[in-house]
Parts: sequence; C-alpha cells; structure tokens
Amino acid sequence: MGEFDLIARYFKRPARRAALGVGDDCALLQPSPGYQLAVSTDMLVAGRHFLPDVDPRTLGHKALAVNLSDLAACGARPLAFTLALALPQADAAWLEPFSKGLFALADAHDCELVGGDTTQGPLNICITVMGEVPVQQGRSLALLRSGAQAGDDIYVSGTLGDARLALDVLRGAVTLPGAQLAAARQRMDTPEPRVALGMALRGVATAAIDISDGLLGDLGHVLESSRVGARLDTHIALGLLRHGRDAADKVLPEATRLACVLAGGDDYELAFTAPTTARDAVQAAAAASHTPVTRIGQVLAAPGLQLVDAHGAPVVNSLRSFDHFA
Ligand code: ADP
Ligand code: MG
Repeated sequence: MGEFDLIARYFKRPARRAALGVGDDCALLQPSPGYQLAVSTDMLVAGRHFLPDVDPRTLGHKALAVNLSDLAACGARPLAFTLALALPQADAAWLEPFSKGLFALADAHDCELVGGDTTQGPLNICITVMGEVPVQQGRSLALLRSGAQAGDDIYVSGTLGDARLALDVLRGAVTLPGAQLAAARQRMDTPEPRVALGMALRGVATAAIDISDGLLGDLGHVLESSRVGARLDTHIALGLLRHGRDAADKVLPEATRLACVLAGGDDYELAFTAPTTARDAVQAAAAASHTPVTRIGQVLAAPGLQLVDAHGAPVVNSLRSFDHFA
C-alpha cells in the first residue's frame, strides 16, 4: 500500500461542511458569520504519551480527544481537524482500527478531517483542531485562562485522578482490584472531551482550562494568567477520585489518592472559575451538558495556591504537575 492509497483508504471521506476537504494542496473552510476560529495542536509520541502496545482504536480516540479537550476549554464548537501521521510501516491491521477510533469520536462531535500529512518514521500523531466561538458586540465569548477574579468559585467537571491511578497500577507502583483497574484504565485510554460543557459555560465562566497535566499545575496556569491566587479544599477534591477509595476493597493511602487527584494528568476534565452570583447558571450549564461539576475552592486576590483540609487547616504538599522538560 502506497502513501496515497493509504490516505484514500483510511482518511479520505466526502467533505461535509468544509468547502474542500482531503485531496488538494489546501482544505478550504468557511467559518460561520460572526464567529472566530479557535485553533489548537497536540502531538502524541509513542513511549511518551501512550504505551507502545496500546490498542490502535483507543489511540485514534485519544489523539483526537486531547485536541477536542482544548476546544472545550475555550468554549469552542468543533469544526474540523488535520492529521499529521508518522508511521513505521503502512500496516492495515493498525490503520483500520486507528481510523475507526478516530472517526467515531470525530463523528460524535461533528468534526471533519480535512487534511494532513503522512510520512514514514517512528509512530507520532499530531492533530490540529479548528473550532468556532461567537463574537458578540465585538467581544469574543471564548473562555480564556486570564479571566478569573478574586472571589470567584473554582469548579472541576467529572472525576479526577483515575487516569493517573491506572498508570500507577500499570507501572507497578500501586495495586487495584481488576474491575477497578479496568474502569480506571478506561479513563486513561478514552477520555471524553467536555465540549458540551465548555460551550454551555460561554458567558458564565470567567476562566477555564482543560486538565491534561494535573489539577495543581493546570489551575496554576489560570491563576498565573489571571494574576490571582486560590484556596482548594482537598477533602472535596479527594471525593473526585472514583477508584481506590472503596472500603469494600483495599483503600489506598490518602497521600496516594491526593497525588492522583491533584497532580495526576490525562483526565481531560475542565477546571473553571465563575462568580458566586453565577452558581445557578453553572448548575444549569452542567445539567444542559449532562456533565457533573463540583465546586472545589475559591479564587483569592493574594497569589499562591493554598490547600486546606475539611477543618480549614493547611495541607502540606510537594506535588508537581507533569512537565516534559522538568
Ligand atoms: P502535499 O504534498 O501537497 O503536502 P500530500 O501529498 O502530503 O500533499 O497530501 C495529499 C492530500 O492528502 C492533501 O490534501 C493532504 O491534506 C491529505 N492528507 C495527507 N495525509 C493525510 C492524513 N493522514 N489524513 C488526512 N489527510 C491527509
Ligand atoms: Mg504533504
């Protein structure tokens, strides 16, 4: 199978919304009137971002999911994406499930593959997603990292830490009963980008980010961009971990669970801030998008991130988020 057969067989589909899709030198897209284009790129490298033996269908899902998660964090509606792929060989047994996993998620979000590049080399998947956000009275409704205000509530969507827990089990650092590992592993392999929630939070949230490297670090980016600090309630955050805390099985030590929740990456949930006056609006956005959200702290004027326990006492931690070059 040659390069162009490969593209035609696995990645070329009839253009839908795009004015021109795969096959020419450029794709052509027509953004809706009154919208801005939101663009984001994420690369997945074998051995760095995924285990080399991962199921290709799962990988196709995750490669697009991590990109859609950035659109979600911005409050953008997905439109289209490009796929740059380096492959060791043109292997149908890999390409078939990879493209199935990729297109299943793409179709679920009505996001169209409009182009890319294919080359031989060590497995590497780079996706660029494009989405749109409305502009109203000259003002973009995109959710940014920089809008958090002192006094705002801090929220997290869904659950946190289970992806990291699964990784720790696979690395042999922690043990979990088989059924819990399977459920936690699903969180690691097939994250569901919170696109509907992000869109529902336009005009409600003051700032947002997706949690890819860990809550402390990613929330830290929001605080830094917004020039504020925060207080986080660790006992509430601990409740966001679903596995490894069940008294019927083996309960993991609190320090392990806290590390997963606060510093575990790969959750692809949204962390966002909103004024206390918007509590009903936040709940309405959560309900409309069928996405649970939990209030886990408050934005403070003074810089720094304080962790407190159920009694308001400080929690000491030396946790760090994932950093490729640290
Ligand atoms: P060029 O040489 O002009 O860059 P290519 O020969 O690399 O074009 O690609 C031919 C067409 O196939 C282009 O429209 C390109 O966007 C598309 N394409 C290449 N690889 C992929 C891929 N992995 N997924 C989707 N489209 C692709
Ligand atoms: Mg090319």
